[in-house]
Amino acid sequence: MEKIFEKKELIKKSENFSEWYVDVILKSELADYAPVRGCMVLRTYGYSIWENIQRILDEEIKKAGVKNAYFPLFIPESLLRKEKEHVKGFSPELAIVTIGGGEELKEKLVVRPTSETIMYEMFAKWIHSWRDLPLKINQWVNVVRWEKRTRFFLRTTEFLWQEGHTVHATHEEALEEVMRALKMYVDFYRNCLAIDGIYGKKSESEKFPGAKDTFTFEMLMPDGRALQGCTSHDLGQNFAKVFNIKFKGKDGKEKIAWQTCWGFSTRCIGAMIMVHGDDAGLIIPPKIAPIQVIIVPIFQGKKIDKNLEKETESLKNILKNFRVEADLRKEYSPGWKFNEWELKGVPLRIEIGPRELKEKKVTLVRRDTGERLKTSLSTLPKKVKKVLELIQENLFLRSQKFLKENTREAKNFEEFKEIIETKKGFIKAFWCENPNCEAKIKEESKATTRCLPLEAPEEKGKCICCGKKAKRKWVFAQAY
Ligand SMILES: [Zn+2]
Repeated sequence: MEKIFEKKELIKKSENFSEWYVDVILKSELADYAPVRGCMVLRTYGYSIWENIQRILDEEIKKAGVKNAYFPLFIPESLLRKEKEHVKGFSPELAIVTIGGGEELKEKLVVRPTSETIMYEMFAKWIHSWRDLPLKINQWVNVVRWEKRTRFFLRTTEFLWQEGHTVHATHEEALEEVMRALKMYVDFYRNCLAIDGIYGKKSESEKFPGAKDTFTFEMLMPDGRALQGCTSHDLGQNFAKVFNIKFKGKDGKEKIAWQTCWGFSTRCIGAMIMVHGDDAGLIIPPKIAPIQVIIVPIFQGKKIDKNLEKETESLKNILKNFRVEADLRKEYSPGWKFNEWELKGVPLRIEIGPRELKEKKVTLVRRDTGERLKTSLSTLPKKVKKVLELIQENLFLRSQKFLKENTREAKNFEEFKEIIETKKGFIKAFWCENPNCEAKIKEESKATTRCLPLEAPEEKGKCICCGKKAKRKWVFAQAY
């Protein structure tokens, strides 16, 4: 991560998007550079967003009958080498331990880049009969991938995620689980992170190393580049064959199991920052905001108004069902505090002054629109609940509008290249599904296939690259 000279004022998103991204993360205290190259420190404010995400997603995962476990951080190198495509895909970015306790290790240990191999070695031990299936396990852990170019949240050498792994008796059942997980992620992005996108299947060249099929949710960032939000994989029997995950069926015959895995990482916080933030700082959707409501009392000058202080505390108590805080600091002016909490993206601010106190009223200020609303104290909790819902909805509608306005169709490669050069965004275009065409499109436009939308109808068309027959329009974009 490149360090940017820290200025006092926040860099404007509208003027320099990529520098704003780093600046807003540092100044809002979500994260900081770590002494280790390519790693970041998730500070308390950033980590509490992750905790909120975890809490909501973990509940969904458990509802689906998946239970949490923990597998070791170290994976014997021989295990990783078992599945050829898998090891080929991950080799360039592995961190490997060669010395332990001062002695050279007989077998090198890989720091987990993902846990298929170590989990499946155990699954083979635990699964014997159809009665042991389905097996559904999830873990919330850190993983390490030695990245050359890193960026806060989007790509760091170490990051946090959950990885779900399931084993089934039939392919049909496994596919159902793959789609359930994908749908869970899509819903989470739309309902909680307030970000819309396109979901679908990855191309052969873009799928997970070792998977039969990979499904994804692709989002569009404000600079017109795509960001992959999650993945859900149909592993088929690839891993089950090499790890010997077999079971005795109801008919008494030995069968090879079917597997899935799916993951969701701290990268989603990067998407949230980019999509919703503005020149004044972050805008955090209420459902995952560490602080949903900030109360700022308007003290007159340096004089401390004991009564106002007391009223602020009681206001906080009235709103105890929300994640609420009161800023009673005396060393900062109200204006300074407004800027500070806007920078930190708190969705709703409540201002309370001596005059309003007499009227039994407060002022609500929305972070997303700047709109000010006077509300009487008696109906405050109801009003706050309603306004937070409106903010959540408004953020999603904005994202949905942006997605619509920046998804275009290209009839030929000329049109395609022109869109990439002038507007970027998602481009829907016919592709014959030959990897050579995909590679050529990438070489000439830096755009990659993002996915084949699940709802894409079968049509008659011509590949924008080779002109041969193509059945479906794929979604392309330049990606992070
Ligand atoms: Zn083609």
